[in-house]
Amino acid sequence: MTDAGSHAGRVALVTGAGRGIGRAIADAHAAAGAGVIYLDHDRALAEEAARVAMARGWRAVAVAADVADEASVAAAVRHGTETLGPVTLLVNNAGISPKSGSAGGKAFVWEMQAAEWRRVLDVNLTGAFLVTRAVVPQMREAGYGRIVSISSVAGRTYCDIVSVHYAATKAALIGFTKHLAGELGPSGITVNAVAPGRIDTPLMRGTAAEANEAVRLATPLQRLGTPDEVAGMCLFLTSDKAAFVTGQVCDVAGGWLMT
Ligand code: NAD
Repeated sequence: MTDAGSHAGRVALVTGAGRGIGRAIADAHAAAGAGVIYLDHDRALAEEAARVAMARGWRAVAVAADVADEASVAAAVRHGTETLGPVTLLVNNAGISPKSGSAGGKAFVWEMQAAEWRRVLDVNLTGAFLVTRAVVPQMREAGYGRIVSISSVAGRTYCDIVSVHYAATKAALIGFTKHLAGELGPSGITVNAVAPGRIDTPLMRGTAAEANEAVRLATPLQRLGTPDEVAGMCLFLTSDKAAFVTGQVCDVAGGWLMT
């Protein structure tokens, strides 16, 4: 569901936009009239997503960058803004959840390698910081901005299908969101998090089928979510309709977690 034209004249940067939830978020913003910077560390995925968007008549540019790499982020933001203009909408979506462990992909803490722990923190948490820091000056200059970070139900409560590094980053993004909302509110910038439940994407397909089925059965709506359903929440939070919403965590989880 998109609100045609609701984002006209804005420029959105979406990280991890090459596939899955990020691509749905980027497409929803482009369909709503924003120019969209499709950022992904997989250049081929980013270029294909942006190519399809442009073929639909949307404004889009692909940029290849690793969100965990400061120089790569700076170059990507520079190229994206030179092409489409200053960014006032940001969705920190890029994230990884390695399936290297013995429990259907999940790694228990006693078998987790420190290098893997660090990489998950670098991408999921430091990546959001680096990209946010790169675009906040443009938002402050505009006196307007919307930042949304994709957390997870796993950052809010125990989920036995994910590993502790992933859960730690998703919880940290919630603290990041609330404190940024406090810092940036006076500049006209709202900052929120979206916490998806189980969403059908390539990332979750690495988890054992029985584990995903158990989540489905524990979800009141009795199904997994779709990337478009997460995109719908993001599109609301980056719209003017959500102008008075900041520092919040919005679940898109079919009722899997109710607090
Ligand atoms: P996905 O693996 O399908 O897509 C992730 C995208 O991010 C890919 O295009 C990948 O190339 C890109 N990416 C990965 N590392 C990157 C990096 N270092 N720099 C730039 N791009 C990078 O994953 P998804 O399921 O679409 O997940 C998107 C976000 O939603 C993630 O933050 C994930 O943690 C979160 N999430 C997903 C689910 C789910 O069930 N799928 C649930 C809760 C939260």
